[in-house]
Amino acid sequence: MIGAIIGDMVGSVYEFHNIKTKDFPFFREDCHFTDDTVMTIAVAEGLMNGGTEDDFIEAMKKYGRMYPKAGYGMRFFHWLASTTTEPYNSWGNGSAMRVSPVGFFVEPSWDATAVDCSVDTYARRSAAVTHNHPEGIKGALATANAIMFMRYRVKNGDEMGEAKEELRTFIQNRYGYDLSRTLDEIRPSYKFTESCQETVPQAITAFLESTDFEDAIRNAISLGGDSDTLAAITGGIAQAAYGVPSWMEEKALTLLDEPLRAVYFKWRDYLAERDQ
Ligand SMILES: [Mg+2]
Repeated sequence: MIGAIIGDMVGSVYEFHNIKTKDFPFFREDCHFTDDTVMTIAVAEGLMNGGTEDDFIEAMKKYGRMYPKAGYGMRFFHWLASTTTEPYNSWGNGSAMRVSPVGFFVEPSWDATAVDCSVDTYARRSAAVTHNHPEGIKGALATANAIMFMRYRVKNGDEMGEAKEELRTFIQNRYGYDLSRTLDEIRPSYKFTESCQETVPQAITAFLESTDFEDAIRNAISLGGDSDTLAAITGGIAQAAYGVPSWMEEKALTLLDEPLRAVYFKWRDYLAERDQ
């Protein structure tokens, strides 16, 4: 999830001031965490608490209310503030921006014919507590499965270029996203959107065209649009493929508030213990 957090932070200053270039200072002085980070942390805590629907709702409301000005969509903001636990049929990209912990939560196993059930179960659940529209759920499923897919390929020692092409085919076939356009083709007409269906395919393409973690984040931000969310989604997948340079993790941790950092450390310990 640190990949998503870094993407969110680096993109935070470009969400409302889009730049259509890869040439920009990576961690600008005024970079900060936004809703993408807060909700990613909430999903991680929800998973560690058991990964039930109630666990996700409780964690999202807890951290959402702790950071009410992090930049949520209007309807999500109302959901956070209210006592309701009912979803509101959103197709917003919020379900994909927060899902990355799911892709790292279970053991990397991947089979082209039987996609890992637990990844699907948790991804669907983490989305459906608010984003229960089919496109909202699809965005989360595609993102979490892309992470799992790349983790599995890296674990197997597979060639990166080959793995990426297989990922492209898998995502296109299973989710119907068009991944045939290059970033240069997407960039000129790409505008701000909060939909999953106009964010997730672009974020995956930003990863597919990347050479390393930093390059992936730069690709995502160079598209413009909802920069922090695009970069958060790309960042989660790029982390699975390349890992994250330790200086970036250190830098991101200094930009996190204490309660969020505490969850991150708990998460890191949790995964370390699992992988022992
Ligand atoms: Mg944001």
